[in-house]
Amino acid sequence: MTQHAEATVTAAEGHRADPAVTFAELYGSEPDGIWAAPGRVNLIGEYTDFNEGFVLPLALPHTAVAAVARRDDGLLRLHSTDVPGGVVVLRVDALAPHSGHGWAAYPAGVVWALREAGHPVTGADIALTSTVPTGAGLSSSAALEVVTALALNDLFELGLSAAELAVTGRRAENDFVGVPCGIMDQMASACCTEGHALHLDTRDLSLRQVPFDPAAQGLTLLVVDTRVTHALGDGAYAERRAGCEEGARLLGIPMLRDLPYAGLDAALATLAGAGADASVIRYVRHVVGDNHRVEQIIALLDAGDVRAAGPVLTEGHLSLRDDLRVSCPELDLVVETANAAGALGARMTGGGFGGSAVVLVETAAAGAVARAVSEAFAAAGHAAPGVFDAVPSAGAGRLR
Ligand code: ADP
Ligand code: MG
Repeated sequence: MTQHAEATVTAAEGHRADPAVTFAELYGSEPDGIWAAPGRVNLIGEYTDFNEGFVLPLALPHTAVAAVARRDDGLLRLHSTDVPGGVVVLRVDALAPHSGHGWAAYPAGVVWALREAGHPVTGADIALTSTVPTGAGLSSSAALEVVTALALNDLFELGLSAAELAVTGRRAENDFVGVPCGIMDQMASACCTEGHALHLDTRDLSLRQVPFDPAAQGLTLLVVDTRVTHALGDGAYAERRAGCEEGARLLGIPMLRDLPYAGLDAALATLAGAGADASVIRYVRHVVGDNHRVEQIIALLDAGDVRAAGPVLTEGHLSLRDDLRVSCPELDLVVETANAAGALGARMTGGGFGGSAVVLVETAAAGAVARAVSEAFAAAGHAAPGVFDAVPSAGAGRLR
């Protein structure tokens, strides 16, 4: 992974400590194995997953790694090198949703979700470490859930598929931690493959690996982490979700996914005629438009015309900014500056109100674009952004 020295880089690719050594120091024995699960960045298809639409994420080189040993005495011991505090000790038969536990709720929630589904998970010692930036919209939480689910699947011989592990992680996050996320993050972490983006249909979880290797074409996909999170996020997510459901109800369709792009203009006229709120009309236009942009970009990737995807990314950003209204000044600054400095296209990615943007750029121009963004942030008085190359990487797997 090339890191752009001109800009501050968020996370080292290498892990800070060997998780097997940490495990031995913590628990006084060897782990049964080591597993890894990546963070992800979404190329296009934002706020489409709760409308049962399409998304196109890729796995990052940044991973959560877990050293794990099975236990059969009902104890669950959890440790992360990335947060202060020691080992969290819980009993698997006393795990209850929404009962706190801070960061440990993510892996504990996976144990809870597996047991809720009837799987005999009788305890574990887990030592975690991660290079996925947290709270940057790059799914550090899903990486934690998926690596835990994968390790327990192997150690307790549960026989679950990658998609079933993703569903388990989502259940943990929705019902145990209490965060209303869609299925994209966990599916990306569990199912992505190196050199590909994942075309996921969030209705039935059918998927296709779409070849995507920017470096082979002289291109770079930069991730720019703005390092800001605006508090607006949670309520805004629920409000957008409710607005989309209202739009589908007024149109008499189960989900916005069921509205074909060719019918969008007529549908918007129908909504206006039915007295729909202006925000509902904007949300419908964004969701149906972004679903269409996923298909457009896949067609371009399949045709080997990756450069032409750039303007579609920027269109997606304008839609998120103006129709869904989930961008923020820092994200807009990344997109505007990168495009002005010669990028092929750029968009915010993830839930918005901060977090990260993706920038598609000629590799020869990547350094200059990263520098231009960093300078614009400095001039605007923002903290330096993190910038790295989003090399499409492998999904979750066992390391040893
Ligand atoms: P994102 O998934 O976009 O990074 P979230 O808010 O969904 O942001 O998840 C971040 C949370 O996940 C952190 O606040 C922490 O509780 C947990 N988490 C992520 N990575 C780690 C880690 N390496 N160690 C401990 N907890 C982590
Ligand atoms: Mg998350």
